[in-house]
Amino acid sequence: MGETLGFIGLGNMGHHMANRLLANGYSMVVFDARSEALDSFRNHPNVTVASSSAEVSKLAKTILVSLPSPQVVKDVALGKGGLCEGGEFNTYIDLSTTGPLVSSEIANQLAQRGVVSLDAPVSGGVPGAKKGTLSIMVSGSKVAYERCTPILKVIGSKLFYVGPNAGQAQTMKIANNYLSAVALVASSEAIVLGVKAGLDPKIMLDVLNVSSGRNSATLDKFPAAVLNRQFDYGFKSGLMYKDVALCMSEADRLGVPMWVGTNMKEIWKLMREKLGADSDTTEVVRIFEEWAGVQVVGQ
Ligand code: NAD
Repeated sequence: MGETLGFIGLGNMGHHMANRLLANGYSMVVFDARSEALDSFRNHPNVTVASSSAEVSKLAKTILVSLPSPQVVKDVALGKGGLCEGGEFNTYIDLSTTGPLVSSEIANQLAQRGVVSLDAPVSGGVPGAKKGTLSIMVSGSKVAYERCTPILKVIGSKLFYVGPNAGQAQTMKIANNYLSAVALVASSEAIVLGVKAGLDPKIMLDVLNVSSGRNSATLDKFPAAVLNRQFDYGFKSGLMYKDVALCMSEADRLGVPMWVGTNMKEIWKLMREKLGADSDTTEVVRIFEEWAGVQVVGQ
């Protein structure tokens, strides 16, 4: 039996990652604010379901979190009922997209308690979390990174050590998600344009995916969740808005112009308002469909 790991946040990504760790011999102490997220773990012989984040840190020395927003991550790490009110844990791994500022603040405060922090945001979506093929960008102590590599390798197949400072991997991640968000919006515009002109969207994707327009939306998201109208890729619009907003606020802070991002942030804000924060990001195509009066449907 491997080390006991704590895991907090068993949502779309977290429950797959925790299941993979269990399947690879780790024992787990898990917690989520939603009781139903814990149901599938309750009867597992190697799982203890905790009643708070504080209880997780009483029972595990290494703790992973996969949480929705910077504020929630901060509350769980440092707030009331959070990790710091529990036990003497020593390693904290944040798999969420938190942004560099909050991640540095948490790392600094945890360091004062002797806890080592790693930023380890992931990319590859729910399919990657399920298969253990995520890319994981890591920053923080190199020694801690090397010690935690066996754990991270269960979750992701492509690990990158980005640098020694807290927040560096978060900057990498928000730059990645900026591009992913642009790709999804721009692909929605281009494919809706084609459909309006009478093209078959499946043929469009076949062409794009062997041509210079290919990207993560045309390769993965449109085939898996748009053409079949399932819209179940597993990444919520509210989270995409958060990621783009984090990126744009870093752009402001650093004085970097991101003109495309200014418009794009408004589109994700509109998505959140029109279809709700829990809508799937692939549903962004519906906004362009509605304006153009067509639907992107596979035959
Ligand atoms: P999710 O909303 O499905 O899951 C988040 C989980 O955190 C939920 O189960 C929620 O109940 C739980 N939670 C919220 N507040 C809590 C609290 N105070 N204490 C304990 N648990 C709490 O989100 P997700 O899609 O799994 O994403 C998790 C993180 O990973 C986010 O930061 C997201 O940006 C990032 N991410 C998501 C994807 C994706 O495709 N879904 C891909 C890469 C990165």
